[in-house]
Amino acid sequence: MTDKPAKSHGRLAVRPSLKPRALMTDTPDIQGAWKVKVITLFPELFPGVLGGSLTGKALKEGLWNLETIELRGYGIGKHKDVDSPPAGGGAGMVLKADVVGAALEDARRGTPVDPTAWPVVYLSPRGKPLTQSMARDFSRAQGMTLLCGRFEGVDERVLEEYNVQEVSLGDFVLTGGEIAAQALIDATVRLLPNVLGNDESAIDESFSNGLLEHPQYTKPSEWRGRKIPDVLLSGHHGNVDKWRLEQSEKLTQERRPDLWDIRIKDKKL
Ligand code: SAH
Repeated sequence: MTDKPAKSHGRLAVRPSLKPRALMTDTPDIQGAWKVKVITLFPELFPGVLGGSLTGKALKEGLWNLETIELRGYGIGKHKDVDSPPAGGGAGMVLKADVVGAALEDARRGTPVDPTAWPVVYLSPRGKPLTQSMARDFSRAQGMTLLCGRFEGVDERVLEEYNVQEVSLGDFVLTGGEIAAQALIDATVRLLPNVLGNDESAIDESFSNGLLEHPQYTKPSEWRGRKIPDVLLSGHHGNVDKWRLEQSEKLTQERRPDLWDIRIKDKKL
């Protein structure tokens, strides 16, 4: 442990006289709220985009909690080294098992061991691609720990030792895990109760039923000679629903035959 590797964001301000016990610690928890602990070399990148709009409002209201754990604080020696060259040679540097292990150890304190209740995830291009159903599972956990890599990644042994799942943002390589972590957190937090207002719904969206979303329109009813489809202005909800489903199916078949095949297969089962 080092002086102050952890930092909390967006806590509710509570007057000292009203301060519950849980808020007196370095990393207080708003009771019951979903929490994410992010291990990163760059805590200043958080909350980043998550501080804006609906996720930012929810963070301020205590609907979810964010704690950053600065990896540098666990660095070794005078220079607080966190990385060293890859065994076997080759380009770049690898984050050290002893450094990342100590950070994971600290993150683990006070969290459930069951990986369903508290997933521990390393953002990595080798991981399972992030999906809506994974985000839904994460949102049903009490919270999670995210490890952001840099350079060539982390020593494999630490992933084995802590039973860390790997999750990827997609088939491309980022310079670090922070953008991927923020994408994962955003997708998860918006599924938490009360984060989306009544006007925004997570039920009807792309992927929630295995289909891409139908096209959306809003006023004016005609723009540059392009009209909103008549059915949407008809006021006939049954027809609107039918049209939307047809559009969703057509788009999914055209753009994502992989998703369409899964849907057909699931229906047959
Ligand atoms: N050498 C590694 C890439 C390292 S990129 C490899 O080829 O697999 C540096 C860090 O960026 C990784 O440790 C990881 O945390 C993050 N990263 C890069 N691409 C990512 C992706 N597609 N999804 C999630 N995290 C990614």
